[in-house]
Parts: sequence; structure tokens; C-alpha cells
Amino acid sequence: IKEKHRNNYKMFETSISENFKSMLTMESDLRKALQKEQFELHYQPQKNLITGEIVGMEALLRWNHPEKGYIPPLDFISLAERTGLIIDIGDWVMYEACRQNKLWQGGGYDPVIVSVNLSAKQFHQKDLVSKIQHILNETGLEPKYLELEITESMAMTNEKYILNTLQQLRELGVLVSIDDFGTGYSSLRYLSVFPVTKLKIDKTFMDDNQIQNKAIVKSIIHMSHSLNMKVIAEGVETEEQIAFLKEENCDEMQGYFLSKPLPPGKLVHLLSTG
Ligand code: C2E
Ligand code: CA
Ligand code: CA
Ligand code: CA
Repeated sequence: IKEKHRNNYKMFETSISENFKSMLTMESDLRKALQKEQFELHYQPQKNLITGEIVGMEALLRWNHPEKGYIPPLDFISLAERTGLIIDIGDWVMYEACRQNKLWQGGGYDPVIVSVNLSAKQFHQKDLVSKIQHILNETGLEPKYLELEITESMAMTNEKYILNTLQQLRELGVLVSIDDFGTGYSSLRYLSVFPVTKLKIDKTFMDDNQIQNKAIVKSIIHMSHSLNMKVIAEGVETEEQIAFLKEENCDEMQGYFLSKPLPPGKLVHLLSTG
């Protein structure tokens, strides 16, 4: 047993230093990625469960690394956060998403809302609101077609500051949703105070094998509506889930059943006209 322990320890050591090396490489790669235009946005459609129309597109970041191929966001977002690079990356994401949405509108499709994920660091930028205003002016996108997704954990720090920023964003006319709802420290009091327009039910609650999930989904839907918010279910993969969501009057859905996140050109056939 002792011997085994020692080996494990050794393996642990090497993996730490290798991880560290690859993290440093990754950090310098990440710094170059923006100027080399290696980032892409893929979009996942959101469907209104009553009308059946596509009403939104969530922008999801992809890093097309020259050697490693596509790197998923969860593998580099936290590094980008720690290094502060998330600010520049986030600016790019926001601009690109607004530009793309304006392009879709110019193509004669019914307008959709583009939603963009905001990390904590981005949300706490002092000039966030003026930055967004600037991006909307530059791209010509009307504010009501931009939605910002924040997470519950973000909402828990410094209530006054968050409330003030949210109010400014709402005055500007952009929409704000709470992402991964139900996984963080939800406080019902914050929910009723913050001017949030939509809750996104986290995809872990779509798992049918967990009996209590249906009850949780139901109560999130009912709560959203009583707080005058819209509600969307994420991670919807089956017809049964859709039937359940319709039955419970969920407003919208998003998930692989409808479409995986795709490059913008591959989504136009889903957009409606007239
Ligand atoms: P998220 O915002 O919760 O995005 C949903 C994630 O679930 C996406 O993973 C999406 O591809 C995946 N997904 C969608 N439908 C289904 C489904 O039916 N089943 C399952 N199992 N998964 C589904 P992705 O694209 O890998 O993004 C992961 C996370 O990375 C996002 O989670 C978000 O937190 C973060 N992220 C993505 N883009 C950005 C960005 O531009 N900025 C920031 N700050 N974070 C981002
Ligand atoms: Ca999201
Ligand atoms: Ca989510
Ligand atoms: Ca998430």
C-alpha cells in the first residue's frame, strides 16, 4: 500500500508541473488568439414553445486553435478570467454577436434576440454600460435585441452595485437573464428586486432520471411567471421533455433536440420570415 501511495504521489507531481507548463503555453496562445482571429461564435437557437418560432440565438464562444483544433469554452474561460483577457475577449464576443444579429435582420428574417454570456469580471467593469451602448451604436442593433446572461453567483456579491448596473442596463433597453438558474445560491429576495427579464432553467434539471427534477422545473416556471419574468429551459434533448414543458407553460426552449450550437451560416434555415 505504501509503495502504491508513493507512485501515486509521483504521478501527481509530474501532472502538476505538466499542467502548469501547458497552462503557460495556453495563456500565451490565448493572448495571441484574438489578434490572430482564432475565435468564433457559434449560435444555438431558442424556440418559443407556443408559436414554434425561433425567437433567440445564444452566442457560444469557440476557439479554433491552430494545432489543437476547436477548444471548448470551459477549457479556457476560467484562464481568461484569471488573466483578465476575458475583458478583451468579451468585448469581441459582444460586438460580433450584435453585428451578426444585425446581419440576420438585414437578410429579411424576423428579428431574434441574441444572447451573450457575461462573466463576473465583465459584469463588474466600471464602463460596462457605456461600452454596450457604444457597441449598439456601432452595429446599429436595437437594444431590445440584445440579452445579457449572468449567473446567480454573480448576483450574490455586492447587492447595491449589481442592482445599480442592472437598472442602467434595463434603462438602456437590453434584456438580462439569469443563466444556469437553480444551481447557484438563489435568493428569492434578490430575484424579486433585480430587474431581470428571464430565467434560464439549468440543463441538469432536464435529467428525467431524477424524480424530483420535474417538481423543480415546475416551480421555477411558476415562480418566473409570478415575478413577471420569462422562462426558458436549457438542455432539452427529447420530445417528452418538450411535451412536459408545454404542459407546464414554459415559454421557450433551447437544446440539442432543436439544434446544437452552429456557425451562423448554418442556422438561417431555422429563422422565420413574415
Ligand atoms: P452555458 O451558457 O450554460 O451554455 C450552454 C452549454 O450547454 C453550451 O456548452 C451548449 O453547447 C451546451 N448545450 C446546449 N444544448 C445542450 C443539450 O441539449 N444537452 C447538453 N448536454 N448540452 C447542451 P458550451 O458551448 O461548451 O459552453 C459552455 C459554457 O461556456 C457556457 O455554458 C458558458 O458558461 C461558457 N461560455 C460560452 N461562451 C461564452 C462567452 O462568450 N463568454 C463567457 N464568459 N462564457 C461563455
Ligand atoms: Ca448561457
Ligand atoms: Ca446555461
Ligand atoms: Ca453553464
